[in-house]
Amino acid sequence: MNLVVVSNRVARGKPNEPMTGGLAAALLPVVEKTGAIWVGSSGRVRDGNLKEPFAEVEALGAGALAMLDLPAAHYGGYYEGFANSALWPALHSRADLIRASQEDYASYRAVNAFMARALLRFRKPDCAFWIQDYHFLALGAELRDLGVRCPIGFFLHTPWPARAVIGGVPNHRELIEAMLAYDLIGFQTEEDCENFLGYARCDLGLAVHDGFITSQFGRTRAAVFPIGIDPERFAQQATKAMTHPDVSRLRRSLNGEKLAIGVDRLDYSKGLINRIKAFDRMWTVQPNLKRSVSLLQIATPSRGAIEAYGNLQSELAKLVTDVNGVHGEVDWTPIRYLNKGFSQAVLAGLYRTAQVGVVTPLQDGMNLVAKEYVAAQNPADPGVLVLSKFAGAANELDAALLVNPHDIDGMARTIATALAMPQAERQMRWEAMMAKLRTGTIQQWFADFIEALQDAQHSGDSMLPEPPTLWPRRAGDLAARYH
Ligand code: UDP
Repeated sequence: MNLVVVSNRVARGKPNEPMTGGLAAALLPVVEKTGAIWVGSSGRVRDGNLKEPFAEVEALGAGALAMLDLPAAHYGGYYEGFANSALWPALHSRADLIRASQEDYASYRAVNAFMARALLRFRKPDCAFWIQDYHFLALGAELRDLGVRCPIGFFLHTPWPARAVIGGVPNHRELIEAMLAYDLIGFQTEEDCENFLGYARCDLGLAVHDGFITSQFGRTRAAVFPIGIDPERFAQQATKAMTHPDVSRLRRSLNGEKLAIGVDRLDYSKGLINRIKAFDRMWTVQPNLKRSVSLLQIATPSRGAIEAYGNLQSELAKLVTDVNGVHGEVDWTPIRYLNKGFSQAVLAGLYRTAQVGVVTPLQDGMNLVAKEYVAAQNPADPGVLVLSKFAGAANELDAALLVNPHDIDGMARTIATALAMPQAERQMRWEAMMAKLRTGTIQQWFADFIEALQDAQHSGDSMLPEPPTLWPRRAGDLAARYH
């Protein structure tokens, strides 16, 4: 099968650069090996003729990477607008942060339609498309509209929220109906999948049976494929990273003090404010832990042009300064706070240096940092993972210390428990988590999805009306409708 993988951002295989997020980090090693073509945005925009998409193609392992310049007129409305100011907050159950205009929606649909046209270039016999994430909910529908009849799968890396929350997204019905052009829709957890099926059943009034949704477009299967990592590769990387200058300097600076680590994009879904408050509470309630543990918080800047992200960055910086001001000493800084990214080759060593990994999102599709932290540990003396029960990873990593990220006192107590945990218990928990990581690897995730996609293609393309008319198709149609 000639597989074409599509995502908003692609990762180039540069070992010394930070990854742009979980999706790119996860896909890179498998795409390199499978010989798939991976198509995504180049990160650049271009004016002019939208009918002839411009792509730069380079080799990627056995496969290829194609990077497209996206249309300048629509990029802001698509990316900062509808994708990240309407869909992202809704998918993370933050309906209060939804900001969307019909212009943004029109741009989102225009970029989905643009991507569909660009993909025709990569269509081959025995081809299948695998579309990634919330940037492209309508891409399958656009491809079908252009006459593509091969299997098209979709995987959502974020959560899928309760019906009432997704109902806060303008045009939600039209968008979710468009998603039914996919043959297979993958989710991170059972709850996400159930929420989606609930919407199809209750809001769209469709027949749902055994994970299959029947619509006028045929059958769409919704199923769960929890994304994994390559734990062996990460473990090797971590061992190697211990001699990296950044990691050596960190270790020297600790002077026997313990370290907790947090690594997150600077995003309101990651629960960073509550996490810092929990450390504040811990040092207040247990002053003996001052000087005996500090927090290294890496908060990689993300989506800075969006107001909610700018506000979070200011709020967080102020909170960290306040907490350091209250608990710090002339020769001790409680929180080392860094607004930059690190390569995974360095991150792996930072994880291994820390006795506690704190991963406490308010909502997270999976959270690969949680899995990476576990894989990076020294088997003879592993650290403890403190993990939000609202991260998708909590389903598998239930041997972590699970916390409610809204309960500041509870988190403070649990972090202290983690710091004091005896070695035997640490090893027992770590081994249980590693066993899960070894069975649910990224390679397995990839293979499972592709197998299911081959099985799940709409039962008989003849069921598809010619052409489907449920969704508006062209940017022009949308512009006419909304302007
Ligand atoms: N990451 C990185 N450098 C950094 C911070 C993060 O390479 O400085 C990577 C990290 O190793 C992980 C991914 O970015 O693979 C973050 O994925 P996660 O699922 O935790 O969160 P997301 O950013 O996708 O919401």
